[in-house]
Amino acid sequence: MQKIDLKNLSCDDLAAFVAERGLPNFKARQIFSWIYRPGIRDFCQMTDLSKKLRETLSQEAFISHMEPAVKEVSSDGTIKYGFELADGRMIESVLIPEGDRNTLCVSSQVGCAMGCTFCLTGTMGFIRNLSCAEIVNQVCAVIDDLRSREAGELNNLVFMGMGEPLANFDNLLQSLVILMDELGLNFSDRRTTVSTCGLVPKIIELGEKIKVNLAISLHAADNETRSRIMPINARYPIEELLEACRKFPLQKRKRIMFEYVLLKDINDSDEDAENLARILRDIPAKINLLPCNEAPDIPFKKPDQQRIDAFQDILRKRDYTVLLRSSRGADISAACGQLAIKSATPTS
Ligand code: SAH
Ligand code: SF4
Repeated sequence: MQKIDLKNLSCDDLAAFVAERGLPNFKARQIFSWIYRPGIRDFCQMTDLSKKLRETLSQEAFISHMEPAVKEVSSDGTIKYGFELADGRMIESVLIPEGDRNTLCVSSQVGCAMGCTFCLTGTMGFIRNLSCAEIVNQVCAVIDDLRSREAGELNNLVFMGMGEPLANFDNLLQSLVILMDELGLNFSDRRTTVSTCGLVPKIIELGEKIKVNLAISLHAADNETRSRIMPINARYPIEELLEACRKFPLQKRKRIMFEYVLLKDINDSDEDAENLARILRDIPAKINLLPCNEAPDIPFKKPDQQRIDAFQDILRKRDYTVLLRSSRGADISAACGQLAIKSATPTS
């Protein structure tokens, strides 16, 4: 019999698991909260469960975990963790400490099928989806690392690592349900953000199924430019994407984050900034400008600082909240769009 990985189960799934074995519902809640207590890997440690239940669990189930195979620390404090998966594939998660807050950038796939031309993950192509457990275990491993270094709590999760989260919808959703459960890691909807290149039907479905913050990789304010750098735009053009954003259920005082990578001479003119301000006018939006992180395989450059400032000024004058994301972790290739692992293909 194949054992079940409990890291793939939500508390409701566990309730079904225990019900099948004739046990009361509260046992599921007990087991679930044990799984997400730090340092618990073994059913013997679950001291308030009966010996019989612990035996059943160890015969039928296991609790997977991941440990980083590689951990690189940037000069600015950003940490890139490389995890080797059971099949030898590698993924990365990036921890960004800011003041006393820690944000983790989580991966959802090995590689990505979306082919955005400015993104290194895109150049890898799609290899496979991550399982729910592989998503959840990135978070658990980083929490363990923070604890062992007494480096504080993990405050925010952003699905901005490798891959397109909404292209791995079921596993993403299941991982969110688990990560946000108050009996477990208790990440609230306000501390959890899913970023997408714009899979319109999945944005709508996400809004229907769970409360989270939304980030949109917009990167251009007209369809011609966007289609040139993001193939997904041919399927879901800007008008449809923004319509889905207008309908997305937002929590009080929350706005959608629009990400905009600044590519020299492609999308960085005053006119582009004016257009961006115009198309977002009726959406509760904040804008995150990402000066292009350059890489040898990427045919784009970062605009000079004057251009970046001018672009930003136009948006500020139109009353937008604009963040200029500094390129954190660039020296260890942990910055946005730099996550691509040369050894993503197993050697054996
Ligand atoms: N696939 C999702 C999640 C990845 S998020 C998405 O695209 O939204 C990673 C962010 O980094 C995205 O906003 C992406 O567009 C951005 N990015 C990709 N390549 C980049 C580059 N070369 N420089 C700066 N940002 C980049
Ligand atoms: Fe995929 Fe996002 Fe990179 Fe586009 S920007 S290739 S969707 S990871």
